[in-house]
Amino acid sequence: MLKRFLPLILLFVATSLLAQQTAKAPAPKTVYIRAGHLFDATSDNMRDNVVIQVVGDRIQSVGPAQSTQIPKGATVIDLSHATVLPGLIDCHVHLDSRADRYDEIYRFKDTPFSAAFAAVVHARKTLEAGFTSVRDVGSLPFLAVDLRNSINEGLVPGPRIVASGPPITITGGHGDLNNYSPQTRVSMFPEERDFQIADGVDQVRHVVRAQVKYGVDVIKILATGGVLSKGDSPGAPQFSLEELKVAAEEAHMAGRKIAAHAHGTQGIKNAILAGIDSIEHASLIDDEGIRLAKERGVYLVMDIYNDDYIRGKAVEFGLPKENVEKEKMVGELQRENFQKAVKAGVKMAFGTDAGVYPHGDNAKQFAYMVKYGMTPAQAIRAATSSAADLIGRAKDVGTVEAGKYADLIAVSGDPLKDVRVLENVGFVMKGGVVYKDMITSSPRP
Ligand SMILES: [Zn+2]
Repeated sequence: MLKRFLPLILLFVATSLLAQQTAKAPAPKTVYIRAGHLFDATSDNMRDNVVIQVVGDRIQSVGPAQSTQIPKGATVIDLSHATVLPGLIDCHVHLDSRADRYDEIYRFKDTPFSAAFAAVVHARKTLEAGFTSVRDVGSLPFLAVDLRNSINEGLVPGPRIVASGPPITITGGHGDLNNYSPQTRVSMFPEERDFQIADGVDQVRHVVRAQVKYGVDVIKILATGGVLSKGDSPGAPQFSLEELKVAAEEAHMAGRKIAAHAHGTQGIKNAILAGIDSIEHASLIDDEGIRLAKERGVYLVMDIYNDDYIRGKAVEFGLPKENVEKEKMVGELQRENFQKAVKAGVKMAFGTDAGVYPHGDNAKQFAYMVKYGMTPAQAIRAATSSAADLIGRAKDVGTVEAGKYADLIAVSGDPLKDVRVLENVGFVMKGGVVYKDMITSSPRP
């Protein structure tokens, strides 16, 4: 009896399995984007009249409009009066930092929750400004990791995040709470010294390992003093060469890259010699530092826009005098040294220190990069193909090519003529999903 029905039963099982499968995975959506102009970031050139085919969250093909067949009834996004570029990448942001919180009292008043709520808002602003990927180089312990995961789950909108933990500092260094009595403490994880403070190679090893354990993608270490901290000098090295080497070794062993904050001349060289992958700020880099960076293929991430904000608005928001003085010391020199590094042909990636100035204004740095020696194409590639290489995501983002994520932005105007058009990104797609469109919906001039 069973034998007679077996083929029927099998057929039933097979069809219901098939039905289940199709219910689980509907055919990925295909969208055709007509780009009037395309800067794909694989070269310094602009292409005209291109069609980009997006299937699901990836780019399927990029080709000349004349030879691309768009099927009847297909979904088309018409950006034929705009310039399309890869989604931008900022390699130095702090998504939990607020640019209106310069009064020190907030170090004692704010909770981790308020920082997290702010970070959710900042993530959306960053994405809507056209930055579809960021590297967060220092937020409260594992906030950036959680935010990355929430964005990836689709719970909140935001860019793809390459997340660090809190920046690793020496006792009394740029990341420590200085100039208060020994009784004063703000601590989330006292036993672990907030996964942030480490002295000596063993503690450095431990904190890097602990950060990896809790899900960071990248390690951030503070190799010199800072501008916005108290009681330290931006020029002074922090951590010994040996400690920095151990940090780099541990990070690399875990398959992570490592970024070092370094303003001072010696600290920059120490970080390069230690095997660090990118030097953040690099304000007082000298000729030898430039030569070393070039020789070893180390990226410089120089945040040359925010000086104007720190010396303007931040003072209004209660930035202490000590910090204003320090910024005056390094701000202008950093811009001059940026120019030298560009001339020397050092690898440069776009990073702004967003959080020091308001999130969403990231693109304001392009004009400064052009003013201080880059061509617009170089500045844009620093924020696309080069940035993708630095953050280790060149397989997925940074250019408009078949196989990459459909992370695309569009602007009105020609960014190669006036890079400031990037300050008004009108269209943002991330992974094939449109997050902002003020171009196709508005009437044309
Ligand atoms: Zn920073």
